[in-house]
Amino acid sequence: NNNQHGGLHDHQHDGANNHAHARQLIGNALRERVESIDHEYCEPGDEDTFFVADLGEVYRQHLRWKLNLPRVKPFYAVKCNPDQKLLELLSALGTGFDCASKAEIEQVLKLNVDPSRIIYAQPCKTNSYLRYVKNNGVRQMTFDNTDELRKIARLYPDAELFLRILTDDSSSLCRLSLKFGASLDSTDELLALANELGLNVVGVSFHVGSGASDPAAFLKAVQDAHTVFQQAASHGFSLKTLDVGGGFCSDNTFEQMAGVLRTALDEYFPAHSGINLIAEPGRYYASTAFTIACNVIARRSIEDIAATSYMLYVNDGLYGNFSSIMFDHQHPVAKILRSGGHTVYDTPAADATEDGIEYSIWGPTCDGIDRITESIRFPQLLDVGDWLYFEDMGAYTKCSATTFNGFTNNHDVIYVCSEPGAKALLELQ
Ligand code: PLP
Repeated sequence: NNNQHGGLHDHQHDGANNHAHARQLIGNALRERVESIDHEYCEPGDEDTFFVADLGEVYRQHLRWKLNLPRVKPFYAVKCNPDQKLLELLSALGTGFDCASKAEIEQVLKLNVDPSRIIYAQPCKTNSYLRYVKNNGVRQMTFDNTDELRKIARLYPDAELFLRILTDDSSSLCRLSLKFGASLDSTDELLALANELGLNVVGVSFHVGSGASDPAAFLKAVQDAHTVFQQAASHGFSLKTLDVGGGFCSDNTFEQMAGVLRTALDEYFPAHSGINLIAEPGRYYASTAFTIACNVIARRSIEDIAATSYMLYVNDGLYGNFSSIMFDHQHPVAKILRSGGHTVYDTPAADATEDGIEYSIWGPTCDGIDRITESIRFPQLLDVGDWLYFEDMGAYTKCSATTFNGFTNNHDVIYVCSEPGAKALLELQ
């Protein structure tokens, strides 16, 4: 409707101001931290990698979600980034939470979140975790096979079950349907067994793959879910919730994805059907809110007749927070934070250029695969003690970092809150 179009326009207009304010705050936080380090005499660990997290960005993503998918309640996928402050903020904003393990559920329950705001969205669950959720009042969970149904019938017959169906995830960054999801030719049998076991099937869920890029995948999945709702009715189940999973990116593909999904939901699950709609976004909320800064710990010069290039070794890599390169097919882009004793975060020259000196960037471990960037050029000559930063490092980074070679995976996070988040958060408090 007209209002909504007005809203979208305003959102884009405000976006530029928010972005400038966010950059300024993040830049100040990065600068203050690196300028406080005495690189000549500091203790081991003082020059460690650190994050700056902008909670205002999380809040803006939430507003953007509500604008584009007003009927769909987000259940944040904790696996993506279980940062405590991020979870506290989302809890205050009223989202639900998608958890996949006892530890994730425990972390969310400790925030005093009502168990009804949690879905245990792991179709293949650990027995003892099932007993744990039963004792702690978490009822909603997914399943996609007969063995799991029998397990649930034995351990938690009162659970509220979502039948997770298979999707076409071929265009996503991280495919999930190789491992999870019931094909449409098995759903009838599963519903019949659930009925026979006296179980309580309450909904359908799907996931189009993490980092999805084809909006048509959402349309097909909604159509398939609609078919399963009808099948369920023929088995005597009156399903009340559709869970459209995650997969949403935070770039401008979101509006397109959300548009296709919104239209499909309005057609197959219109408001008057009374069906609740939920989703499990992870990277959408976390990715853009986190920036990471890394220290150049060593440099190797590569002399060539044409030009000298350099291998830069920084204090974080593929076994650490850049695990997203390995597991999440990401390509983080280095920018210069500090070079030659000057912090250059907000000068345009900080960006990589076509010309300039060529660098490759490597992590601190002794493994040869630990390379962040094969080739990047900067106008500046970088050396030990300089700093690089990488944006959009909030999703599937810290959560899958290891301590390989004795490097820590527990890095400081400095929190800032750019407008309009700051004001809105104060109102919330
Ligand atoms: N829900 C489930 C069941 C998942 O497995 C995942 C990611 O693997 C998510 C939600 C979150 O996906 P994304 O971060 O792409 O939104």
